[in-house]
Amino acid sequence: MQETHTDILIIGAGPSGLALANQLERYGVRYRIIDQNKERSRYSKALVMHPRTLEMMDLLGLSESFLQAGTPYKEITFHYNEDLLAVLDFTNISVSADFPFVNVIPQSRTEEILESGLSPHRVEREMTLTGLEQKEGVVHASVRKANGEETITARYAVGCDGAHSTTRDLLQIPFTGESEEVNVMLADVKLAAPKNDISLTSSDRGLVFLAPFQGEYTRVIVIDYKKQGDDFPEEVTLADMEDSLAEIYPETLSLHDPYWISSFSASHRQASSYREGNVFLAGDAAHIHNPIGGQGMNVGIQDAMNLGWKLAYTVQHNLNETLLDSYHAERAPVAEEVIKKTSYLMKGMTIKSHYGIKARNQGMKWLLPNKKVQTKITENMAQLDVDYSFTKFAKSFRKFTNVKKVESGNRVPDVSFLTPAKEEKTLYSMLREEPFLYLIMAGRGDAPQYQEAVRNAVVAFNSRVGDMLKPLFITFDEVDDPREITDMNSELYMDLNEESNERLHVTPGDMVVIRPDAYVLLHTSITETDQLTKALVNYFGHSL
Ligand SMILES: Cc1cc2nc3c(=O)[nH]c(=O)nc-3n(C[C@H](O)[C@H](O)[C@H](O)COP(=O)(O)OP(=O)(O)OC[C@H]3O[C@@H](n4cnc5c(N)ncnc54)[C@H](O)[C@@H]3O)c2cc1C
Repeated sequence: MQETHTDILIIGAGPSGLALANQLERYGVRYRIIDQNKERSRYSKALVMHPRTLEMMDLLGLSESFLQAGTPYKEITFHYNEDLLAVLDFTNISVSADFPFVNVIPQSRTEEILESGLSPHRVEREMTLTGLEQKEGVVHASVRKANGEETITARYAVGCDGAHSTTRDLLQIPFTGESEEVNVMLADVKLAAPKNDISLTSSDRGLVFLAPFQGEYTRVIVIDYKKQGDDFPEEVTLADMEDSLAEIYPETLSLHDPYWISSFSASHRQASSYREGNVFLAGDAAHIHNPIGGQGMNVGIQDAMNLGWKLAYTVQHNLNETLLDSYHAERAPVAEEVIKKTSYLMKGMTIKSHYGIKARNQGMKWLLPNKKVQTKITENMAQLDVDYSFTKFAKSFRKFTNVKKVESGNRVPDVSFLTPAKEEKTLYSMLREEPFLYLIMAGRGDAPQYQEAVRNAVVAFNSRVGDMLKPLFITFDEVDDPREITDMNSELYMDLNEESNERLHVTPGDMVVIRPDAYVLLHTSITETDQLTKALVNYFGHSL
């Protein structure tokens, strides 16, 4: 049997595994990614890419490809029969997000674009994980190949192998949850009269979701209350769907040229732990839920974006393992919340009692036009409100700072700056190039007071933990010569529109350290620079 070694083994090349591989490749970490299938899946499964995931794709340098290949939708409409109940308007989030829309793109294209971000032939196909052992901090993975067997040893392994995860089974991690007792029919088809928008229509008989994609196709999802349990067709046909649509949808929908017809029974489950020793779970291997709101793939990709830099830095800088524990602590509650939300929405949207339907419809008509409610709901659907400030890791920073405006664990939106030569540069493009960004919000004239302290903090941190902290001076003033602000030989950027104040809530005199996945690590004041070093070194498990 062949025996090989790598630093990180990724099992499964779906969206979660590929997003993780993209990060590891960018950090130059030794990794392998295997998949049991001979080729990429052709199925369009996840269609909706949400704004926070687009931001993550921007961090990987892939957002342009996703925007070119997808179709942006700014609204989702909700009807009860022909009665318009509400419009969910994603432009509400434009104050804090550069992608105020959902990008509709078939999962097969998403996987293709993610794979294009890797060097050629990185995904090793027809490689099936069959066994997993951990001895003295080393993972031994048994893999069945087209032409034999291989044992891959690795420092870490990540099971991105989907809902029926072999990794999870081999680790004996419980995957608990329940069926939501709802049978769903699905088809990607052409409509005789195509639609222009994404809509969800309910009636007393069921629910219909329509999402046009790639110009000619429409995703049609149907829940027919009369075709449930034993009455659900064994193999769904277009005729079954058309019959149900005729009963539920207020106008005739004629379906033809199906690309994919499928069915599933909605359920939700979550792994009790996302980590066992040196093996992690991400994506559907760690959580599944019903497809309302199109959240699953988005959560999986964001799991990968949370774990990737932590694994890369742990391997490259020999960091303390506590950083890796923050993965479960941060990501498990996110999936837990999505499970609660989607189960609640499924119950609400499939309510059958007359009074229940009336109350739901009135509630939607009354609440959703309210701008605050709209913004809150859209931010939540868009996953822009994912926040890690509740974890003990984030809370550990509180004792090091008196500044409470922005908390460790808050999302960092993108911000545009200008160089003194008036070239535009975005915060996210800098995150692509550098490890941790250390923004020093500087004002003219106060540089001498804190420069020495900043210099000491950076040197103290980088010499202990690794060359990871990159200081950047940001000023709201227009300057021609960086030396007006700093003589530290650091980069200086101007934020003349004070966008970092509007989006990130920082003002001159603040300092913010930003994680590679665009969350705040620490926000403090320039007068507390010595505390910054202590806080960071503590976080990375080193001592001063
Ligand atoms: C009909 C439908 C509609 C959906 N719509 C949306 C949506 O709009 N938005 C959204 O966010 N989500 C949606 N989802 C959910 C989304 O498809 C999943 O959340 C997503 O595929 C999870 O990605 P993943 O990489 O974690 O797992 P998967 O996509 O399942 O990938 C797992 C990979 O692991 C490989 N693998 C499995 N076992 C092994 C093994 N033993 N060894 C090696 N390789 C292995 C598989 O071949 C596969 O390539 C939808 C799902 C369905 C079914």
